[in-house]
Amino acid sequence: MLNLINIETFYGNIRALKGISLCVNQGEIVALIGANGAGKTTTLMSISGIVPISCGQILFEGKPIENMNPEDIVAAGISQVPEGRRIFPQLSVIENMEMGSFLRKDHQGIKNDLEYIFELFPILSKRKHQAGGTLSGGEQQMLAISRAMMAKPRLLLLDEPSLGLSPIMTKQIFQIIKKINTEHNTTIFLVEQNAYMALQLSHRGYVMENGTITMTDEASKLLTDENVKKAYLGI
Ligand code: ATP
Repeated sequence: MLNLINIETFYGNIRALKGISLCVNQGEIVALIGANGAGKTTTLMSISGIVPISCGQILFEGKPIENMNPEDIVAAGISQVPEGRRIFPQLSVIENMEMGSFLRKDHQGIKNDLEYIFELFPILSKRKHQAGGTLSGGEQQMLAISRAMMAKPRLLLLDEPSLGLSPIMTKQIFQIIKKINTEHNTTIFLVEQNAYMALQLSHRGYVMENGTITMTDEASKLLTDENVKKAYLGI
């Protein structure tokens, strides 16, 4: 579904991605793990077209997307849930969600997706007229996922969904991510600092260090790999 072929991304003179190749197959949850500054967020930003790549190719469902602008990439079927949620604090919950569907014209489809999302996150239904900025961290993460889902993506990019959340809330969010993958047939590419939880949830994983991919395998194998255990799982 998604193929990154030897991509490089720069911030000025800083070569943040040094020739990354990876793929995500339809139906999978794939985790990208690594230390701070490894280049995980830059990888997602490059896929979304927010940060331009300087070389390589990004194929989505076989078509090159590396020269497309971000809104066309959303329209093509890829949505990103950014690190730190980035919800619109002054807008209500429902208005935040509607921002996710602004490119869509299928009114009945939008209505159905809203209903589905309120089933997934009943707390958001209760708070639909409350300002986004007054929600708790976990609720804001739910809202950021909902907003991305309202674009009806076939591929959902999630950047650090557990950031700043309690272990209980993280568990709840991860269960919902699994549900979105299995019940809503949405493929997921997940960037996470919490490598243990991310690999438990995922089918496959990639390890990133200093702008390069250093390891890839089935998630269950990475979870028992001695190097991964030592460097990223704290065991
Ligand atoms: P974190 O988990 O801390 O978010 P990360 O793995 O997502 O880390 P990136 O945020 O992609 O890493 O950063 C990769 C490299 O690019 C780092 O060296 C970082 O300092 C640099 N970088 C990221 N954003 C910018 C920017 N806007 N301008 C300049 N350098 C940047």
